[in-house]
Amino acid sequence: MNRIAAFIFTFLSISLFAQDDAATLKNIYKQSLTNGQSYDWLDYLSNEIGGRLSGSENAQKAVEYTKAELEKLGLDKVWLQEVMVPKWVRGEKEEAYIIVGNNDLKIKESVNICALGGSTATSDKGLQAKVVEVKSFEELAELGEEKVKGKIVFFNGAMQADLINTFEAYGGCSKQRYAGAYEASKLGAVGVIVRSLNLRQDDFPHTGSMGYLDLPEDKRIPSAAISTNDANTLSEIIASGANPEFYFKQSCQQYDDVLSYNVIGEITGSEFPNEFMVVGGHLDSWDLGDGSHDDGAGVVQSMEVLRLLKESGIKPKRSIRVVLFMNEENGLRGGRKYAEIAKEKGENHIFALESDSGGFTPRGFSFDCSDANLAQIEQWRSLFKPYLIHFFEKGYSGADIGPLKNDNIVLAGLRPDSQRYFDYHHASNDTFDAVNKRELELGAATMTSLVYLFDKYGVNQIKNVPQIKD
Ligand SMILES: [Zn+2]
Repeated sequence: MNRIAAFIFTFLSISLFAQDDAATLKNIYKQSLTNGQSYDWLDYLSNEIGGRLSGSENAQKAVEYTKAELEKLGLDKVWLQEVMVPKWVRGEKEEAYIIVGNNDLKIKESVNICALGGSTATSDKGLQAKVVEVKSFEELAELGEEKVKGKIVFFNGAMQADLINTFEAYGGCSKQRYAGAYEASKLGAVGVIVRSLNLRQDDFPHTGSMGYLDLPEDKRIPSAAISTNDANTLSEIIASGANPEFYFKQSCQQYDDVLSYNVIGEITGSEFPNEFMVVGGHLDSWDLGDGSHDDGAGVVQSMEVLRLLKESGIKPKRSIRVVLFMNEENGLRGGRKYAEIAKEKGENHIFALESDSGGFTPRGFSFDCSDANLAQIEQWRSLFKPYLIHFFEKGYSGADIGPLKNDNIVLAGLRPDSQRYFDYHHASNDTFDAVNKRELELGAATMTSLVYLFDKYGVNQIKNVPQIKD
């Protein structure tokens, strides 16, 4: 073959290759949208089981249900991986009110709160004290022990509304939820109330994890979230000079660790069975809603990836695992356990993709990998264009797959549109009706497409992948 003939031959085979991938992606999206199973799985997980806090009966039901469903898919292996998890129980519904006035005329205004995960209870009678409002740890430090001692500290830092990536806004104030009690207790505070991490004005308090770090037991003060509407009310009352007191009562409790499981299914690779690719989400959720967005969506999308590969007749070269991680919300024990066992067994993980940002319209992925790998992955961008998937950036992947990080692995996070995520996150309105079927299915197809391409081309050969012209 002369050089021109060789060039034409290469050009034609490359074009056919690219067309082949475009057709495969088209079929994956079609299967997900017309014959998908993710929404039905989510329906069961949300409506038949419900909130799945680690260590709860519902978490165990979710383990059994998803294992049974994976077994129906005809995968090569399905198994449970033991992991000990913390068990924190909310107890009775919390009560709270703002009290203004003196003994002659006292006005009580009832407000919506919920205990933060990991918090201690108040006494049976509840806790009542004067309130000091701050918007940051710096403001708290400025007040000092003199003004904080014996008070309830009200952290009212709001998520920054002009950040388009709402996760950035979340990251900007999540530390007041996680470490607010720790910082306030060091200055002698008796309790902590935290503005819910929610960009919307509404009446739902949003829970989430908090930690006492190295505080001794007697310094562990009760900590709760207050709805954004009620946070504004409390702030206005304080600003009026009324010097209110705040009352709250919660009966949550921390128990000893209990046995739970990660749920794992695998399609064993046909050419490189010892190269592992993981796709996953977390099976546990908070207890207030049914955890449909966080992270029921990620769970069913990850299950759907393996189902869609099989349905589309794709036989992966590498071993592809779905991992439904336990205990992301208040411990990350499942993610750590999976990585620990993978290391122990010397399993070579080359790729992991997590969906834990809600079941909204997918926009793309963020990647935690080298610049060279990202440049290679970016060559697939045009294949995703018909599905309005355009976001391929370096960034955070996911909490559960984080412990797998090393120099060889590409970690990825599905990035759905994030504008409405924090309307529901960790609150009682995170329910099945908040998830749109098509949006969920588009996410599953987008994840499957990336897994398909990554399996086909591997991490080092990606640069050979041709691009389709727009
Ligand atoms: Zn989550």
